[in-house]
Amino acid sequence: MKIDVLTIFPEFFEKVFDFGIIRRAKLAGIVEINVHDIREFATDKHKMVDDRPFGGGDGMVMKPEPIFAAIEAVVGTSERDNYPAGTSVVMLSPQGRPFKQAAAKEIAGELTHLVLICGRYEGVDERVNDALVNAEISIGDYVISGGEPAAVVVVDSIVRLLPGALGSDTSAENDSFSDGLLDCPHYTRPAEFRGMKVPDVLLNGNHAEIEKWRASKALEKTRSIREDLLKGENGDM
Ligand code: SAH
Repeated sequence: MKIDVLTIFPEFFEKVFDFGIIRRAKLAGIVEINVHDIREFATDKHKMVDDRPFGGGDGMVMKPEPIFAAIEAVVGTSERDNYPAGTSVVMLSPQGRPFKQAAAKEIAGELTHLVLICGRYEGVDERVNDALVNAEISIGDYVISGGEPAAVVVVDSIVRLLPGALGSDTSAENDSFSDGLLDCPHYTRPAEFRGMKVPDVLLNGNHAEIEKWRASKALEKTRSIREDLLKGENGDM
């Protein structure tokens, strides 16, 4: 998979994809991640990427021209109908569809080229959504100052699901949300620490018992803090 991130703060991403699973996936050629400075696509002499909002009001709005030019450079066209198959242009936005594990899975399974646009200020000129964007994604019901941290979240959750990214000794199968439940608790050595003991069942080597215990703990935790998951209220999870 190829991922292109469009941002006015490319330095933000200098190290963020260079750790753990994402780093390994890059080195293994499972994913290629490129970060592009939107300002480099501005053509006026001040390289402006934002301007005052029509209709008045606070703050600034990101201008459409540099973003259209950036999409033309990374996708090859700004005609949404002519994007190559497997390509999707995503706007990070609190107004987007809330991002879920199922969406991460779908993107990891179906796309070969993901382009992420990071907004700043009050947001991005709506014509970018109207003409270029295939989907708006929100990372949750809160507002952050820019799309960059959201892009990191989305990229990380997708890349770890690409075939081969997790390696043979780990799998995403039992992770939270994969089976509609939260994950079970995990323990490692020492078996007793400051008077706190690891549950006996994990020490007795009975794998059937251990699986049963893990399933019941996952269910218990899900029931206590994420009942919505059990009720299937997260339809598109
Ligand atoms: N005025 C906008 C918020 C702008 S915040 C509104 O109220 O909807 C600036 C940028 O941060 C946005 O353009 C978007 O790219 C990013 N952003 C903020 N919150 C986000 C969220 N929950 N998910 C994804 N991106 C978000």
